[in-house]
Amino acid sequence: MVIIMNPEATAENISEVIRTIEGVGLEAKIMEGAQQKIVGVIGDKTRMASVAIDALPGVDHSVSISKSYKLASREFHPQSTIINIDGVKIGGETPVVMAGPCAVESRKQILEAAEIIKEGGAQFLRGGAYKPRTSPYSFQGLEIEGLKYLAEAREKTGLKIVTEVTTVEGIDPVAEYSDVMQIGARNMQNFGLLKEVGKRGKPVMLKRGLAATIDEWLNAAEYIMNEGTQDVILCERGIRTYETYTRNTLDMSAVAAVKHLSHLPIVVDPSHGTGKWRMIKPMAFAAIAAGADGLMMEVHPNPARALSDGSQSLTAENYREVMAGVKKLAKFIHDENLNPIVY
Ligand code: PEP
Ligand code: MN
Repeated sequence: MVIIMNPEATAENISEVIRTIEGVGLEAKIMEGAQQKIVGVIGDKTRMASVAIDALPGVDHSVSISKSYKLASREFHPQSTIINIDGVKIGGETPVVMAGPCAVESRKQILEAAEIIKEGGAQFLRGGAYKPRTSPYSFQGLEIEGLKYLAEAREKTGLKIVTEVTTVEGIDPVAEYSDVMQIGARNMQNFGLLKEVGKRGKPVMLKRGLAATIDEWLNAAEYIMNEGTQDVILCERGIRTYETYTRNTLDMSAVAAVKHLSHLPIVVDPSHGTGKWRMIKPMAFAAIAAGADGLMMEVHPNPARALSDGSQSLTAENYREVMAGVKKLAKFIHDENLNPIVY
């Protein structure tokens, strides 16, 4: 349930609403709406039946939230969330790009990649130090050593770091060396991990599970937010369908759906979404045209020699080309007032 205060509501009116909510054993959260303050109620809403909340002074009306997720829903939080990571805004007017190799393979490789990424104009360097590979015999990542190389790349380039955390034990080191902690597709419903990550308060990027519905995905975000971390970025990375030409089926309609259902920013990953480097450019353009808040793309100094996902990684040259197009497209959409989102 959300309680919409009228624009003239006083601080005392709001305190009384909060006291009433807490009085029935529920939690209240205050949010700024466009014109007025909104108080969200968290917990079992049937308990609200014993209080006439709409009758309290300063209350305009209350709305019951129909979804099983609340904090992540737009009903609960009508304004789009902008996540500010040391000045880099995700969910604002300009799309944000996260780019880099699938995995941190060596100091030389990640530093070289970071220079390419920086020069092409992305704001984030990506690269896994802990790799959740399908086969246990595949390269599993450099772990702490990889995180240190990422931190060195951040130091040298000023790029922000987004990297995956795969276990509860990995949260401390990943939180220490990164700006955004990534939860991969395979862990989207690892609720123990989501809860522990949510307790840290550090921004999280939550990738959509391989076979997750949008509802399940937003509920996974809710697990993180319910522990206190409100800065959650969603990442559409393709889902399993009967199609085999592409590695996954990139669900571009998820961008429009998420924008309607949630206030959280959403980025699109055409690398994992297609599995093919040739498809990154058209899908990146499509994502920006659909209203995505950013992109995640795999880029490798030498994709042919990559230890993982080389076939879905851009070369430096292709990356620059994609970035130039994305920049022009985003500017055109902005300048022509072509905002595609229908809330
Ligand atoms: C990744 O981004 O490195 C990754 C492993 O992707 P996903 O979890 O989407 O498969
Ligand atoms: Mn990868």
